[in-house]
Amino acid sequence: MQLKLLWDLQELDLAIRATEQQIEEAPALSGVDEALTRLEELKQLLTDKELLFKEDQKKLKNLEMRTQKIVEDRKNLKENMYDGTVSSVKELEQMQRKMELLAEEKNGLEEEILILMESLEEEESSLEQLKKEVESAAEDLREKETMLKEKLARLEDELKSLQEKRSRHVKGIEPKFLDRYNLLAEKHNGQPLARVEDEICGGCRVFISSALRGHLYNPEAMVYCENCGRLLVKL
Ligand SMILES: [Zn+2]
Repeated sequence: MQLKLLWDLQELDLAIRATEQQIEEAPALSGVDEALTRLEELKQLLTDKELLFKEDQKKLKNLEMRTQKIVEDRKNLKENMYDGTVSSVKELEQMQRKMELLAEEKNGLEEEILILMESLEEEESSLEQLKKEVESAAEDLREKETMLKEKLARLEDELKSLQEKRSRHVKGIEPKFLDRYNLLAEKHNGQPLARVEDEICGGCRVFISSALRGHLYNPEAMVYCENCGRLLVKL
């Protein structure tokens, strides 16, 4: 009877240990860390791309301002040319040349503006895409965190109920048997008892000698495996 109680105690302790291990391993298995890393990487990428986008917007504005300035310069130049104040042919020729140069410069700027606008459009749609990816990565992280939280809560409940069961169970065990159990548990990595099956020790798989076998039928006797030293139980 006492041996049966010890056996059940070992089963409880093994279940407790397995649950504790599950609690310990749950965060790593949950994928929360990976999801968090992915989210942070995407956020960083988004920040970098937004910065580039803003820089390109500034560049565009600058090009537009330069173009506007040329338009005004040309307008002023044209007025000066035709308001009759300049009569020197040479000077007029120089002004005409300047008008042409400004027109060329304007063309060049307008080309740059077109290219930049196209690339801004692409950047904008890639930013939209990236924002969606950030959102979905954040959602993925939230889901994984929730699942982990639920799993841990369930495991903690299980552990608590196992521990309560254990403290109730231990009360029925005689101190002599319990002390022996605790002593052997340390030596045998939490598995101090071995079941005898087909006259073999369930702990080390070695045959039980016939001398020992006889004692196994006394339910109050503590019989140890000659090979591994575990307390033998015949259930
Ligand atoms: Zn053994």
